[in-house]
Parts: sequence; structure tokens; C-alpha cells
Amino acid sequence: MSGHWFLLCKISPIVQRNYNLDYCQSKKTQFHQFLQNCTTREDRARLISCGGPIAGVWLDAVPVSQNFTLSCVQFRTAALMRLGASLPVLGNIEKCIPQCGKDIDNQGYHLLTCKFGGGPIFRHDRYLDNYYNMLREVGFHCHKELMAQFQNKQRPDIAVYDFHEGKKVLLDITITHPWAQSNISGSSTSAGFAAVEKEKQKDKKYRETAESLGHIFCPIAIEAFGRWGPKAEELVTETSKMAPMQLDMPVGQFKAQWSRHLSVTLQRLNSDIINKRALTIVGKKESGTSGPANLAKREFSFDFS
Ligand SMILES: [Zn+2]
Repeated sequence: MSGHWFLLCKISPIVQRNYNLDYCQSKKTQFHQFLQNCTTREDRARLISCGGPIAGVWLDAVPVSQNFTLSCVQFRTAALMRLGASLPVLGNIEKCIPQCGKDIDNQGYHLLTCKFGGGPIFRHDRYLDNYYNMLREVGFHCHKELMAQFQNKQRPDIAVYDFHEGKKVLLDITITHPWAQSNISGSSTSAGFAAVEKEKQKDKKYRETAESLGHIFCPIAIEAFGRWGPKAEELVTETSKMAPMQLDMPVGQFKAQWSRHLSVTLQRLNSDIINKRALTIVGKKESGTSGPANLAKREFSFDFS
């Protein structure tokens, strides 16, 4: 009896692999059907981006600490963006702030890319702070924006010392949106197009100077829906191998934890930009405590004004 029980519980790796292959194949077929049903380039680009590496790992994050926690409003905003649904907080808003004056879409794209009000800069700087703190927590000696050798005030975001064979690695972070005019055509047909293009741009800007100084350069390009560029992903694997402190965890586990932390951070910042701007636009006009502006105000965690 005990022998039969053992056989039932212990599935051979080959059988398990076949189960996994069937499951993955059915999900792949389903995904292609979703893509075929898309009626706009934006929808295709969103689905392709959301289907990429790391894009959805914030959904796996167990809220055991601040780093892995989204508020109700933040979670709702992130989920609606991922689903391509309208954001209730933008329901009654048609125009951006007076300095900008552009029309606002109800999925948050304009607010995440608006050049007025500092939202994208705020998100970049907070994301950078998180990345920097995470590197320091695992024992790296690093600095932010201290490379005086770069000209025209262009300098990478983070310098990490003794990263690989005693060399310094220079990192530059950028968050891009697949719906941007320069990306939408490529992003709706090619996976990770926006992130890869940003990696190329950053390489062009920094790599030659970095290498002439004997350093390594690595761009970290992230799409607003959460997808990482290939070099950002490689960097986390390298980081887990090079970390000075004994991590007591396998590479895969480190990568998963690091990815979840950054994924939650990005979704939190996206949500904060959208809700803060909505509050700025309609907040003063609204009365009572149940409207979107008041909801955003209660849950809003940063102030970048
Ligand atoms: Zn605007």
C-alpha cells in the first residue's frame, strides 16, 4: 500500500515536463488568440509587453514588507493598466494640467509620459533610489551620478565598484512606454521593442566613453507595463553571482526576489503619478469623501510636486 502511495506522489521528471509542455502550449495558443483579437496597435503592444519577462511578477509578491506591498489604489491602478481597462480616477478628466493642455486618455498613457509636472522624472529618481539601495543592501560599494569624466553633464545613474574582475560597472536606468510614438509600431509587432531600443540609445550615449575609461556599461531599460530589457535581466543574474555579501540563496531565488521588489516599485510609482496628477486636476473641484480624487488622496504615498 505504502509503495503505491509513493508511486502516486512521485511523478517522474519526464511526466512532469510533459504536463508543463502541454500547459505552456495551451497558454501560448491562448495568448496568440488574444493578440489576433486585438483591434488596436496599443492593445497588441500592451499584451506583448505584459507577456514579457518580469512584467507581471508584482502579482506574485507576498506583501510581507513595504518593499513588496501595494496599497488598494496602487494595486487597482496596476491591474487595470495591465488589463487595458479604463482607470476610474481618470473618468471625468479630459485635459491635462494647464501648462500642458493635451487630451488625456483613460488608460494613463499621457500622464505617465507627460513632460510637464515632473512625473516621469519622479518615477525615474525613485526607481533609481530603490535600485541603488538594493545594491548596497547586498554589499556593493556604489555611488550615484559621480562620473565627472562624462561630458555635457551626461553621466550614468549608478557606478558600482569592483563588480566584475575588479572593474567598475556603470548603470543607467530608463523607463519607457511601448505606446510612445517612436515605439508603437515596433512594440505592436516585436516583443520588448521599446526596451531594446532604449538599451541601444543608452549604449550609444555611454558605452564608448565608459569603455575608454576601463569600465563596463550596462543599460537598464524597463517598459511601463513592467517588461525588462534583456540587459536588465542579465544584470540581475550577474548581480546575484557577484554580490559581496553571502546571500545564502540560489541565483533563481535572488533573481525572483529582486525582480518582485522592482516590479512592485514600478507599479507603485506608475499609480502614484496617475493618481497624483488626477488629484491635481480635479481635486479642488470635488466635494465629499468618496470621489476618485479623495480616494487617491487617502492612498497616495509620495508627493513629487
Ligand atoms: Zn500633460
